[in-house]
Amino acid sequence: MDFSPALNSVLDTVERWRKADCYPLFPVVTEAGPTRARVRTADGGQWPVTVFASADYLGLSGLPCVGRGAAAAVERFGTGAYGAQSVGGFTTLHESLEAVVADYFGRPAALLFPTGMQANIGVLATLAGPRDTVLVDSLDHGSIVMGARLSGARVLTFRHNDPGHLAELLRGTGGPGRRIVVVDGLFSADGDLAALREITELTTEHGALVVVDEAHSAGALGERGRGAADHLGVLDRVDVITGTFSKALVSTGGFVCADERLVDLLRHSAGAYLMTLGPPPAAVGATLAAFAVLREEGDERRARLARTARSLRERLTAAGVGIAASTAHVVTVPIGPVDRTARIARRLIAHGLMVAPLFPPAVPIGGARLRLGVTAAHTPEDVDLAVRLIADALAEEPA
Ligand code: PMP
Repeated sequence: MDFSPALNSVLDTVERWRKADCYPLFPVVTEAGPTRARVRTADGGQWPVTVFASADYLGLSGLPCVGRGAAAAVERFGTGAYGAQSVGGFTTLHESLEAVVADYFGRPAALLFPTGMQANIGVLATLAGPRDTVLVDSLDHGSIVMGARLSGARVLTFRHNDPGHLAELLRGTGGPGRRIVVVDGLFSADGDLAALREITELTTEHGALVVVDEAHSAGALGERGRGAADHLGVLDRVDVITGTFSKALVSTGGFVCADERLVDLLRHSAGAYLMTLGPPPAAVGATLAAFAVLREEGDERRARLARTARSLRERLTAAGVGIAASTAHVVTVPIGPVDRTARIARRLIAHGLMVAPLFPPAVPIGGARLRLGVTAAHTPEDVDLAVRLIADALAEEPA
């Protein structure tokens, strides 16, 4: 089959990695420890591989009560989703989780999507239209950009976390349409927080809406874990919150929190909601149980997470490993070329450390990097191991 040059170059890269024995993706996990911080993989089979590639930020995976939440839901409603939420797939568990999420973020209403990606696509493709302008950060998650493009709106990109550039774009775009600014609360590519104080000042001044994707921050940042906007004291200035249960809440499913009219509109018109299934009962049961743990233990787990993340950032820097502008529990090590990044990730897993290599298009061309997700389950020894192995790999893998 023939493909375009750009697509052929994807296949060329994969083939090159396979030939050089440095293919770094899809490690097959064959066994997991009591937390997801330790696994065994099919490749080499050593125990343990210490995982800094997960988004189990609060260390909730493996908690028996979360597993019981999933099991009880299966017992009650079966394993499948059994149809779109509008026609039979909506259970009392889904109804409860909508209420929990809305209450958690202090919003009138919430809606559940099968994934966080679909939540972003659904909300943007519905909220924006051809007369509108969506302003996205250059490091926003791909699902935000997809939703913005699907909406038919004009999409303008401002320089990463640069409110000055956003202000310039807002000044240059008036007219009858809506303007919608969309950012990751905590950027998955650099680990820094969106400049939400400045951004919400600007959106207020220019009468624009602001949507914040709290995928990496829900549960993990802010008072009671209400996310980056809360952490920065501007939660009440955000119009729409999106996120996922696939990270700190150790399940799957996406959500949108907003006012009643927008949620009602999404419920009755968003293709990414209506034309697919909702999260299955087991996922909803696990998420509800994870929220219950957050209420009891969230503060202590968040404090531990913040301490461990600070220690990792400080220790990497002290070891001469350059890190991006990370200020929270996502810590990224810029590498640059894709092949060197692949070799380093592969070498790390062979030595017992799993990190997430990020390649274009998830990051800009020339900007391949390693992403480390810290969790409250990591020990000081895990941090020592990560710092030592990464410093060694950078020293030994030629640029
Ligand atoms: N937003 C951001 C910022 C993400 O990093 C991700 C997942 N990588 C998503 C949305 C999508 O979430 P999900 O995995 O639930 O589709």
